[in-house]
Amino acid sequence: MHMQEGWLLCNTENRKKLQEKTRLPGKTRVYSGEIKKLEVNSVKKKKQKKTAQRQIKCPVCGAMAVLRPAAEIYRDPYRSDQLYVCSNYPKCRCYVGTHPGTNIPLGTLADGDLRNLRIQAHRKFDSVWRSRIMSRESAYCWMADLFGIPLREAHIGLFGEYRCRELIRACDQVLENCGKMKGVKSHENDGVSETAC
Ligand SMILES: [Zn+2]
Repeated sequence: MHMQEGWLLCNTENRKKLQEKTRLPGKTRVYSGEIKKLEVNSVKKKKQKKTAQRQIKCPVCGAMAVLRPAAEIYRDPYRSDQLYVCSNYPKCRCYVGTHPGTNIPLGTLADGDLRNLRIQAHRKFDSVWRSRIMSRESAYCWMADLFGIPLREAHIGLFGEYRCRELIRACDQVLENCGKMKGVKSHENDGVSETAC
């Protein structure tokens, strides 16, 4: 195989996919210009995806959510992020935040009680992987297994009250067991030090 100027051989998976898109019957190679154009389009599409407003409904009253500045809802001029807020707000007080720099919702809309519960569950869950009982990635797998759900659905922002409470309970159990094990280990060490003395 030899390269000609102005042509690119597609080695990586992405380039292969791009080649598939541009290949005419019998055409085995594509211009580098064609690839660049498609790559630019793909970046543009990704950006559009991140900033596109999502059509989501409020799970409590069924109304559509609208994107509003968080500064408006929190009455905090220093907030620069956006929230998906139930269009019945403030009658219905459901909303959800967005991933930083995007219009992608952090989860489903929730009222004040559920938002607080999700914060508590997240803190507890974070304390599990921060205590190094397991890595962050393993902790998400453990959470998915706990509820028998796919990893992509293991997000506290999607959880309702039941899952939040169950997660807090399970995290407490893990932390307690870990504490007991540490206790046993420290006693074992005490034994060793006593023997050594
Ligand atoms: Zn609502």
